[in-house]
Amino acid sequence: MSFNPSILSSPLAYLKGVGPQRAELLAKELELHNGEDLLFHFPFRYADRTKFSKVKEVDNEEMYYQLKGIVTSKEVIGSPRQKRLVVKLKDESGTIELVWFQGVQWLEKSILHGQEYVVFGKPQLFNSRFNFSHPEIELAAQDRDSQVGLFPVYSSTEKLKQRGLATKAIAKLTKQLVSGISSNDLPEILPAWVLQKFKLCGRCDAFKWIHYPHDEEQLKQAQRRIKFEELFLNQMSILRLKGHHDRTEQGPVLKAVGPLLQQYLDHHLPFSLTNAQRRVLKEVRQNIIYGKQMNRLVQGDVGSGKTMVAFLSMLMAIDNGYQACLMAPTEILAKQHFQTLSGYAEPLGIKIGLLTGSTKAAQRRPLLEGIQNGEIPILIGTHALIEDKVQFDKLGLAVVDEQHKFGVAQRAALHQKGTLKPHILIMTATPIPRTLAMTLYGDLEVSVIDELPPGRQAIKTQHFNDSHRLQVFGFMRDEIAKGRQVYVVYPLIEESEKMDYKDLMDGYESIVRAFPSPQYQVSIVHGKQKAEDKEWEMQRFAKGETQIMVATTVIEVGVNVPNATVMVIESAERFGLSQLHQLRGRVGRGGEQSFCILMTGHKLSNEARTRMRTMVETNDGFKIAEVDLKLRGPGDMSGTQQSGVLSFRLADLSQDQAILQAARETAIELLSADALMERPEHAALRYHLSLQRKSSTDWSKIS
Ligand code: ADP
Ligand code: MG
Repeated sequence: MSFNPSILSSPLAYLKGVGPQRAELLAKELELHNGEDLLFHFPFRYADRTKFSKVKEVDNEEMYYQLKGIVTSKEVIGSPRQKRLVVKLKDESGTIELVWFQGVQWLEKSILHGQEYVVFGKPQLFNSRFNFSHPEIELAAQDRDSQVGLFPVYSSTEKLKQRGLATKAIAKLTKQLVSGISSNDLPEILPAWVLQKFKLCGRCDAFKWIHYPHDEEQLKQAQRRIKFEELFLNQMSILRLKGHHDRTEQGPVLKAVGPLLQQYLDHHLPFSLTNAQRRVLKEVRQNIIYGKQMNRLVQGDVGSGKTMVAFLSMLMAIDNGYQACLMAPTEILAKQHFQTLSGYAEPLGIKIGLLTGSTKAAQRRPLLEGIQNGEIPILIGTHALIEDKVQFDKLGLAVVDEQHKFGVAQRAALHQKGTLKPHILIMTATPIPRTLAMTLYGDLEVSVIDELPPGRQAIKTQHFNDSHRLQVFGFMRDEIAKGRQVYVVYPLIEESEKMDYKDLMDGYESIVRAFPSPQYQVSIVHGKQKAEDKEWEMQRFAKGETQIMVATTVIEVGVNVPNATVMVIESAERFGLSQLHQLRGRVGRGGEQSFCILMTGHKLSNEARTRMRTMVETNDGFKIAEVDLKLRGPGDMSGTQQSGVLSFRLADLSQDQAILQAARETAIELLSADALMERPEHAALRYHLSLQRKSSTDWSKIS
């Protein structure tokens, strides 16, 4: 964010008490370079200096306490290499120990015997008594002027603390800064009608109050205003770009309802489309018949039938003389799509090409030629498909499956593949909570397939711990006896690859023992296998030659074996919710009742317990995504890591849905009244957005 030149753009060294050395340290440790950075270094909490607990009231490791007492002793103990400082603090109710393991020497000198101190921290139980380790501490006599109101507490680092820049000193700097700024430095950017409509406080006040609120009420006002501003600016930049895109970007005009689509719908459709599939196709068609370049996200839970939607959309392109491609995140998936679509396309006599990393050079050349001269109308592949060498004759539509596995740059590369930017259809089975969809993909059109094909039965999910393994094996046997197949999935993450690999192999062996050949056949698939071996094992399972598939998460996305009815997930507590949901989606693809069994250890963290409970309680991908967002926060949600667009200082997408909704509606209202922001009441906002754009993500590259 940027402001007018002023105290805010001056280097911090100009503040009283900073100087070049401390300025350098602040830059290095906290990335604080100038006044503006410091202004945005919001307190992470506020201390009410008027409220103290008694020592004897300290009894909860989950709570923070503020105490006031006299230092009655201080002692450095332990070996020279492992020194610690133990300080005793006494109030009228008792004495409690404060312990430091770092900065021992310096603290020992600066904490004064017999003086009254204020201490803040979270207690811990040690030898069945509570103490505080590394609490915040300061002389009670200091800074009495701050007794009124809430006092800001800032994050700092060990290094800064040792150089006298603990939270207290930082507070002195923000005080200086905040009292030096006026609304000339921080002019209002929100139009008056917006402030009025939502009863928001002014910009300059908000930034002063966020550091030094008089009371809770003022703090809340400041927070609400700043959150609104962040989300509103986010929505404004997204929607302005989208508006610009919609006004200017031409894509291929795919107007004709051609013979292929008609023929396919009339004679070859293997099932009747669900209403949701039909609706999404209509939405796609409404975009592409006018040639306005389409960027559409199709969200549909696993098994909702996205592939057919993709295929029919491709036919629309081919019917109009264009080519289409489909990009999948893994080779296995690309092959699977290739098989499915080849099957669909066969009666139409359409050629389909497959291009992956392992396509041999001898096959590659004719393939690339066929794509370049237009003989091959559909190309399916992995990201090999967006390599430079692949030249399309006339690419009209690009479908991207499971889009979160693709980076922003790769999507942009797709745009280069046609003389006109091809229409883009992004398919995702990871339902995205509304708040994320609005902020991350706010520039995309969104379609939702919210209906499963008829005859599907909801998957039954149960949670067991390891002691029920025999019971689970028994259940697997029953299902296999009915002619069904079973997945058993193990976690595998890079950091603990060796251990995970061993678990997988141990698990495989115990299953082979419990399900001996020749009665049972067991497949195994994991990342260390050669592509051919993997393929061979997958095929055996797909053809029903093996009854059990032991695998790591390589099968997570997209694999389709409708006869598989049981998904056993080992160490399920190690998987995130969206992954669990994805895995579960591998079963329940046929007409039979399917089951998901979550195996975990006995002891689970609260969070893991919530994940298991959520899985057992619901099959609704959107509900699961909402819980996931609450548990993990937006930073860790799939799709967000690479985006870098969710750097909100204050707004929290798992909490602030209502504010986001208001911000989005307001942005839409503003732009529909004044698309180019030419009205005088929007000038300040327009100027601010233009400054902001220079320093932020290039949105035009995202869609
Ligand atoms: P996903 O949305 O997970 O990609 P798929 O496209 O793989 O789902 O479809 C899952 C299964 O449902 C496939 O076997 C497909 O043939 C089948 N299917 C898709 N649409 C329908 C429909 N309208 N009626 C019946 N079965 C359908
Ligand atoms: Mg799919």
